[in-house]
Amino acid sequence: MASEIQDTAKLCIHSITTKPWEIETAAPRYAEAGVKGITVWRNALEGRNVEKTGQMIRSQGLEIISLCRGGFFPNREKQKRKEAIEENKKIIEEAAALGTPMVVLVCGADPKQSLEVSRKQIQEGIVETLDHAGKHNVKLAIEPLHPMYADTRSAINTLKQANDMAERIQSPHVGVAVDVYHLWWDEALKEEITRCGSNDNLFAFHVCDWKVPTNDFLLDRGLMGEGCIDIPQIREWVGNTGFNGMSEVEIFSSNYWAMDQDEYLDKIVKAYLEYV
Ligand code: ZN
Repeated sequence: MASEIQDTAKLCIHSITTKPWEIETAAPRYAEAGVKGITVWRNALEGRNVEKTGQMIRSQGLEIISLCRGGFFPNREKQKRKEAIEENKKIIEEAAALGTPMVVLVCGADPKQSLEVSRKQIQEGIVETLDHAGKHNVKLAIEPLHPMYADTRSAINTLKQANDMAERIQSPHVGVAVDVYHLWWDEALKEEITRCGSNDNLFAFHVCDWKVPTNDFLLDRGLMGEGCIDIPQIREWVGNTGFNGMSEVEIFSSNYWAMDQDEYLDKIVKAYLEYV
């Protein structure tokens, strides 16, 4: 393990990881623990002035890596697709107000139509929001999700599909987010990481672990080192592309949400130092 020379300079945590904490608690606690970045989930901003919340977070010394999440473009009904595009424009504005350069896209899928049609609608949706993204200087990161989520959450399930789409759209504002939880199983992963790195399309790197057994496919993600993903190997592939961004800890876990969040944060930092 290459942990000796590592510190927390590249450690980012997604606000959803410590869901029981309000953002006003999470930001100072992360900073005290040596965390340097935060990705803010939209639920953490509800009922708040977004700009002021961004200032509060930065005043703790945290960099806001991205806003999670936009997307959900596909729908069989044209009107719904239009509404999704408008919603994504609002999310881009929210990111700009928060002071983050990136929105992560969970692209969506409509089970009433084929994945191929959903992918086409995702691409159309992204293209429709591009002007807005450019105007607000916000990047969009296409995050492929594990195929178990292909029914409703995303028709983009491999890094190859995400790379193909980003390359077809070909905009400095569109790239991909690599999340080890969704992609670890893919035999083409190394090759596709190299590919998006060489096209300047590697925008973000998310980590957690795949528990064996996994008891709930949404809310039972593991801490790094707790499951079967070779995170140091994937981290190395990502690093070899020249990626200089943060490693973002993104864990949904009803078990961890039920425990003392200060103790949990200690565990996150330890797991990061050992396995990322
Ligand atoms: Zn992710």
